[in-house]
Amino acid sequence: MIKIIDGKKMSASIKEELKAEVDKITENGQRAPGLAVVIVGENPASKVYVNSKVKTCGILGIYSEKHNLDSETTEVELLKLIEELNNKEEIDGILVQLPLPKHIDEDKIIEAIKPEKDVDGFHPINLGKLVIGKNGFKSCTPYGIMELLKRYEIDLNGKDVVIVGRSNIVGKPLSLMLTNSNATVTLCHSRTKNLAQKTLNADIVIVAIGREKFLTEDMVKEGSIVIDVGINRNKLGKLCGDVDFENVSKKTSLITPVPGGVGPMTIAMLMKNTVKSRIGKNIN
Ligand code: NAP
Repeated sequence: MIKIIDGKKMSASIKEELKAEVDKITENGQRAPGLAVVIVGENPASKVYVNSKVKTCGILGIYSEKHNLDSETTEVELLKLIEELNNKEEIDGILVQLPLPKHIDEDKIIEAIKPEKDVDGFHPINLGKLVIGKNGFKSCTPYGIMELLKRYEIDLNGKDVVIVGRSNIVGKPLSLMLTNSNATVTLCHSRTKNLAQKTLNADIVIVAIGREKFLTEDMVKEGSIVIDVGINRNKLGKLCGDVDFENVSKKTSLITPVPGGVGPMTIAMLMKNTVKSRIGKNIN
């Protein structure tokens, strides 16, 4: 039988735990955690993501503000809004939905967010903390993957992990988190030579590149664990990951599906970071 890592179920239990934490804060007469979500322009996918983040805040009792800016918004105007949110008492976390329109420098915007409110974990200060193994906000997708591995009691000590994809939001931070947890990590990308040789030797393979059925059964060893981060649409318009799930799952001991694997964890970890920010302890 295929053993599936159920991200939907895990994310539901994390949200339940968070709801209890939020209730405890508000029952004590203190203000609820607050998240500001900023979206610039009309990207339909971004709108779906933002709405789902705001909706989840509502379910957990987290205060949220949605700032919907039109696509003509200038960099200066956006920086001004970030500054206001940085100074706003009710706001513990600020999330600027990416991608931003081309005329706005994303790095500049990310760096303008106070690191203490950077619940996306993209600020160089938080990434730097990750490099030296200090507590800071961790970016939500890799943090969600770590949480899945933890909740499925997967021992990372000395494990050989191959990550395919080296983006700043998934592959790179994940490689640091896994290294900090004593795994031996190989971070692969489009220039990697003999990729299959590497994935075939791995205990855990994590794919985050954005290409349907990229990881095939001949690339994984029997009994390995496979984590699929990809979000793609196949020819029929159906959501799918980067892994040829049907065939790869015949060889794995554990595997994440798409949808229902890594995806639901990302939003749960955003909520976790927001609650942590309110409580003021960036601990694991
Ligand atoms: P990205 O910025 O699109 O970068 C893709 C990475 O894949 C790059 O490092 C690239 O290498 C590498 N790559 C591309 N083709 C390759 C190949 N043939 N062989 C080996 N490596 C290859 O990545 P991303 O933003 O992390 O997104 C990756 C996927 O994850 C997308 O499908 C995205 O939608 C999904 N995603 C999901 C979540 C979630 O919550 N589940 C969150 C974020 C992203 P180079 O660096 O050499 O170009």
